[in-house]
Amino acid sequence: MKPPLLASRIEATMHLIPCPYCGPRAEWEFQWGGEAHRPRPDLSADDATWAQYLFERRNTRGPALERWVHRYGCGQWFHLVRDTVSHEVLAVYGVEDRPPDLVVEPTP
Ligand SMILES: [Zn+2]
Repeated sequence: MKPPLLASRIEATMHLIPCPYCGPRAEWEFQWGGEAHRPRPDLSADDATWAQYLFERRNTRGPALERWVHRYGCGQWFHLVRDTVSHEVLAVYGVEDRPPDLVVEPTP
C-alpha cells in the first residue's frame, strides 16, 4: 500500500507563476489566454485571415509572450514571458504595458 501524498510534497513539485498583483501562486490557479500582442484582424478581413488568427500559433521555442489570467485568485489578466523549453517565467508585465527588452517584438 502506497503512503498518501503529503501536501508539502505536492507543493514542492508545483510550478509557481508570479501574479503581478498577488505574488507567486501555484500554476493551477491560472489559465493560459493565448499568445500576447497578436493584432486582431479587421472585421472585413477574409476567411483565410480570420482562420490564421484563430487557429494558427507560432509555437515558439524559447521566450514566448503570453496572456494569462489569475482565474482562481484576483481574476486579473496580465502578460508574461515564458521560456517554452524550461517553463521558466522570464518576466511579468501588465496588459497595457509593452514587452520587456529581453525579447524581440513579435511580427504580425
Ligand atoms: Zn492575482
